[in-house]
Amino acid sequence: IRTMVYKSFMLKYYFALFINGEKMTYENDPVYQMAVQQLKQSAKILNLPDDVVEVLRHPERLLHVKIPVKLDNGKIAVFHGWRSQHNSALGPYKGGIRYHENVTEGEVVALSMWMTWKNSLAGIPYGGGKGGVKVNPKELSPRELEELSRKYFAALSRIVGEDVDIPAPDVYTNPQTMAWYMDEYSKIVGYNAWGVVTAKPKEIGGLYARVVSTGLGVAIVAREAAKKVWGGVENKTVAVQGFGNVGIYAAKYLSEWGAKVVAVTDSKGGIYNPNGINVEELIKIKEQTGSVTNYKDYKKKITNEEILELDVDILVPAAVENVITKDNAPRIKAKIISEGANGPTTPEADEILRKKDAIVIPDILANAGGVVMSWIEWANNRMGNWLTEEEALSRLEKKMVENFGSVYNEWQKRFHEYPMRIAAYAIAVERVVTAMKLRGWI
Ligand code: GLU
Repeated sequence: IRTMVYKSFMLKYYFALFINGEKMTYENDPVYQMAVQQLKQSAKILNLPDDVVEVLRHPERLLHVKIPVKLDNGKIAVFHGWRSQHNSALGPYKGGIRYHENVTEGEVVALSMWMTWKNSLAGIPYGGGKGGVKVNPKELSPRELEELSRKYFAALSRIVGEDVDIPAPDVYTNPQTMAWYMDEYSKIVGYNAWGVVTAKPKEIGGLYARVVSTGLGVAIVAREAAKKVWGGVENKTVAVQGFGNVGIYAAKYLSEWGAKVVAVTDSKGGIYNPNGINVEELIKIKEQTGSVTNYKDYKKKITNEEILELDVDILVPAAVENVITKDNAPRIKAKIISEGANGPTTPEADEILRKKDAIVIPDILANAGGVVMSWIEWANNRMGNWLTEEEALSRLEKKMVENFGSVYNEWQKRFHEYPMRIAAYAIAVERVVTAMKLRGWI
């Protein structure tokens, strides 16, 4: 009987281990599986052999850390954090760190793969990485958050560095978080390591330009696409879904360049005025009251779903993922869609919009302004903080224009039967594969 009890106990133990083991690995995560599916699609177009896909499918290194934090109530809470270093063929790993209660290992690995493609496509000397901590930062006091940030970065200190892996902010992390990271790392290595993270506060090696850079980049690629379609962006109508850091600056710059912003939404709803919205005024209202819905000069209130189907020339989805789907794509009228958010368009919708001759500028191209400015900040730090804010902005402008132009041309030349996104992925993957071949990795 004792043997039987023991055996059944062990069986249960192994079964639990198996189940948990299965759950724990990134391979079973749906977000990761989607990233792999996209990789396989590019591989097919590029005729890449399966063994090369097998190399690119996995991160080069994946670190899982447990971070004990002494809470204000005296108890200790343990948080799980990850850093995934996907590929370094084109340079040191680069990509943000997010704090969110739904962070999983699979999501972090998938996001690190996306960073490899984004950085490759942006033509900047970086590989791809991403980090995450499973935490709801709103539940922590400022002191607890600082302790968590410092301990997480200390745990990462052996695998990051100015020439190794350069993190930046992502969801619910910000310049203050970067300041803590930079300080913690600097203490460990014994010198001021400005270049170990980017998007720092401007007083300690950052650039104010980083704040506007993602939205500005989204606006620049929309303007460049408008030049191809209509010869310019002047008087073209624009709808912006989401009025956070990305949507605000995309709207601001497009209206400065003569486009007419007619509709804007945020999480509370939105407004529509076919005669145009005063964006400067709207930003003030958003800052003062917390929502664009308090702007007075509108013709109609609209929802986050309605804004997508308005009769406008340019649409900027800058809120969340999966908003343009096969259900609403047939009713979308915009000719240019510049993806400020990550993954706002589903693959089926992409295909529907291509058949309608709309240009969907994919997220990895359209929202790369942030990481391009990170590269400028990093290079600037290593030159003794040499560039002015204007110089940094004009470099971003030049880089985004070049990137849009080269991806657009290659899309037309080599991949015109696919949506622009598929062309962008293929170009990005091909550059990484070429670097790996030249380096003798494959
Ligand atoms: N988290 C941002 C992104 O996903 C920025 C990354 C960076 O600047 O390194 O593009």
